[in-house]
Amino acid sequence: IKISNLEKVYRTEDVETVALNKLSFEVKEGEFVAIMGPSGCGKSTLLNILGLLDDPDGGSFLFNGLEIAHYNERKRADLRKKNIGFVFQSFNLIDELTVFENVELPLIYLGISATDRKKRVEEVLDKMQIMHRRNHYPQQLSGGQQQRVAVARAVVNNPKLILADEPTGNLDSSNGNEVMQLLTDLNEQGTTIIMVTHSEHDARYSHRIIRMLDGQAVLENIIA
Ligand code: ADP
Ligand code: ADP
Repeated sequence: IKISNLEKVYRTEDVETVALNKLSFEVKEGEFVAIMGPSGCGKSTLLNILGLLDDPDGGSFLFNGLEIAHYNERKRADLRKKNIGFVFQSFNLIDELTVFENVELPLIYLGISATDRKKRVEEVLDKMQIMHRRNHYPQQLSGGQQQRVAVARAVVNNPKLILADEPTGNLDSSNGNEVMQLLTDLNEQGTTIIMVTHSEHDARYSHRIIRMLDGQAVLENIIA
C-alpha cells in the first residue's frame, strides 16, 4: 500500500473539516503496522479509505500496484471482498446468525459453493479454536470468543490485508492478548496487517507505529 498526499474533507452546511491533510506513508506486503493518535486525528477516515469503503478527495492510493483512488463503487467492492478482512472493536457479528453462518457470509458474497464453504469455514473455526461453538449465536459467547469468531470471519477468504480497528478495545487483557497473538500468527503466515489502536501495549505487537496528528503522519517508531 502506498498513499501519497491523501486528502479527505468533510463538508457540512457551514463547517469544513480536513480529516486527512496530505497524508503519505507506505506499508509493504507482509508488514504489521500500528496507527496511533488522539481522537479526531483521522484514523477512522483513513481505515475507511484503506478498506475501500470511502473515497479520498485528493492524492494517490496504490493497492497492490493499482491506483484505486478513483475506482467506482462496484470495482472497490469487488477488490474489497477478495482482498481485505476487517476486525472491529465491537466485533460487528450478526446476532441472528450462528457462528458458522457469520463466518460463512464473506464466502457466500464471493459465490463459493456450499461444499467448499463448509470445508473452509470449519478449517478456520478450528484454527481459531471456536469450532465447538459453531452452532451458537454471538450473544451466547463471551467477548473473547466473539472476537475470535470475528477474526475467523475476517480471514476466511484468505485476504492479503487485515484492517483492525481497536481490536482489543472491548476485551480484558487476557482475551486481548489472545487476539493480538492471533493477529501476530496471521501476520507471520504472510498477511499484511494495519491496526488502529490506543494501546501502546498492543502496538508493540506490530513492526512499526505510525503516529498521526491532525490528519498527518507526524512520527514513526520502529519496534523490531
Ligand atoms: P479518529 O478516528 O482519529 O477519531 P476521524 O477520522 O473519526 O478521527 O475524524 C477526523 C475528523 O473528521 C474529526 O474532526 C471528525 O470530527 C471529522 N469527521 C469524521 N467523520 C465526519 C463526518 N461524517 N462528517 C463531518 N466530519 C467528520
Ligand atoms: P466472561 O468471563 O468473558 O464474562 P461469560 O461469563 O460471559 O464470560 O461466559 C462464560 C462462558 O459461558 C463462556 O464460555 C460463554 O461462551 C458461555 N456463555 C455465556 N452466556 C451463554 C449463553 N447464554 N448460552 C451459552 N453459553 C453461554
